[in-house]
Formats: sequence, structure tokens, C-alpha cells
Amino acid sequence: MAPDTRHPDKLDRAVIFLGPPGAGKGTQAMELAKKYGVPHLSTGDMLREHVSKGTPLGAKAKPIMERGELVPDSLVLQMVAERIERQDCSHGFVFDGFPRTVVQAKYLGELLKHHGYKRPFVIHLVIDPSVLMRRLTGRRTCKVGGEIYNIYERPPKAEGICDKDGGELMQRPDDREEVIGPRLHAYEKQTAPLAAYYRRLGLLHDIDAAKSVDEVGRQVLQSVQSVRGAK
Ligand code: ADP
Ligand code: AMP
Repeated sequence: MAPDTRHPDKLDRAVIFLGPPGAGKGTQAMELAKKYGVPHLSTGDMLREHVSKGTPLGAKAKPIMERGELVPDSLVLQMVAERIERQDCSHGFVFDGFPRTVVQAKYLGELLKHHGYKRPFVIHLVIDPSVLMRRLTGRRTCKVGGEIYNIYERPPKAEGICDKDGGELMQRPDDREEVIGPRLHAYEKQTAPLAAYYRRLGLLHDIDAAKSVDEVGRQVLQSVQSVRGAK
């Protein structure tokens, strides 16, 4: 039997990863969720699944995502509200790419209160925008397990193949230069104000996301452990 590498303590709250596209939210959220044995909830992944299955939500979201814009709050909020009602979320969960607007953050606050969760813990991945283009154009993702690589910084052992499960690696269609510009613009305009919003609430924890994946991971864990158990 594989060893149980989950963290012995419970998370018991929502952890939110905030930061621009390419900051490392998915990489760190996946690792933290695994450590605590809770779901990793990436709204981007959920929307891409709707697109690939051709659901009505996917049909609405597809052209918006292709332009690098944000999907309307109402659609994302309904999808998230349904997801966190599932049993696997009862000991907490890790959000990646949500919330992305102040409207989403306010709604999430109400939703968490309604379900009796503690206040969320927000990890703000702080990074100089100049490195994001390289991180995003170099990103490759496993089609099977979702593992995230970078052809410049964290290449797989064999080109195009996931080290973990042998799955084929793909490049996201919105990781092309012409879509990255609008995505970074949407972040600055609509999502960056969330840092001030959560800082005012005393929930924001800044982490230097320019360090190595392992170092950022250590700081994230230290930060989460420092407040776990607090109301
Ligand atoms: P986000 O979810 O914030 O868009 P990802 O976690 O998908 O970001 O990471 C974007 C790209 O940057 C990926 O190719 C990933 O391998 C790489 N990456 C993530 N964290 C780091 C890091 N600390 N140093 C170098 N590259 C990183
Ligand atoms: P991501 O995988 O987080 O980089 O998201 C990819 C794309 O999905 C974004 O550029 C948006 O079009 C859409 N998206 C993901 N999460 C949200 C969200 N919380 N609100 C609005 N749109 C989102």
C-alpha cells in the first residue's frame, strides 16, 4: 500500500490562492490540498471540463476564455456553490483561481458563513510581472492527472510525457502570447483589488512567489500552520 503522506492535522477551512496567471497557484494549491487530504478546487479546471464536455455552461464560457477574459460572476458562483456542497469538502478545500472579483469574494464569504466554516485563509503569491510570460508560455499540463510542468524551469524527464503517470502533456490554448496579455490585464483590473480587500479583513498572507517551487511550498505550509485552529 502507498504511504499516507497527508498532513495529520485537519485544515477545516477554505484556503484561497491569489495571484496573477503564472504565479504558481495551481502548483502550490495541488500540493497543499494533497498534504491535507482535501479537494483542490480550480475554477479554471472546472470550466475547462465543462468546455471539453460541451455542457451549456462550457458553451458560454469557451469564447470568453479564448479571449482571456473573465467568465461572468453568476456562472462561476453557481458552479462553486454546487461544488462545495459535496461531502468531500467537509474538512476544508483549497481554491485556485477563485475568487477573482470582489463580487465573488463577497459571495464566497457569505457562502462559507452559511456552511459554518471558519474565516478563509488567503495566500497572496507576490511576483514581478516580468517573469509571467515565460512561466505561462512554458507551461505544460498532464492530460491525465493535471500535474504542472514548465519546459524552461521544471521540464519532465521525457519530453511531452508526465513523470508521474505517463500521461501526455498539453499546452493550454490560452497560454499563447496573444491571450496572455488580456489575461494579465483582466487580473490587474478585476482581481488585483482583492489583495486590498482581504488585507483589510486581516486574512491576507503575502508570499514571495519568485523563489523555487519547494521554497514557496515551505513558506505556504508554514503560513497555513501558523494560523490553523484560529477562528
Ligand atoms: P497559476 O496557476 O498561478 O497560473 P501554475 O502553478 O500553473 O500558475 O504555474 C505556472 C507555470 O510556472 C508552470 O509552468 C509552473 O511549472 C511554473 N512555476 C510554478 N511555480 C514556479 C516557481 N516557483 N518557479 C518557477 N516556475 C514555477
Ligand atoms: P485559470 O485556469 O485559473 O488560469 O483560468 C482560466 C480561465 O478560466 C480564465 O482566464 C477565465 O476565463 C476563466 N476563469 C477561471 N476562474 C474564474 C473565475 N473565478 N472567475 C471568472 N473566470 C474564471
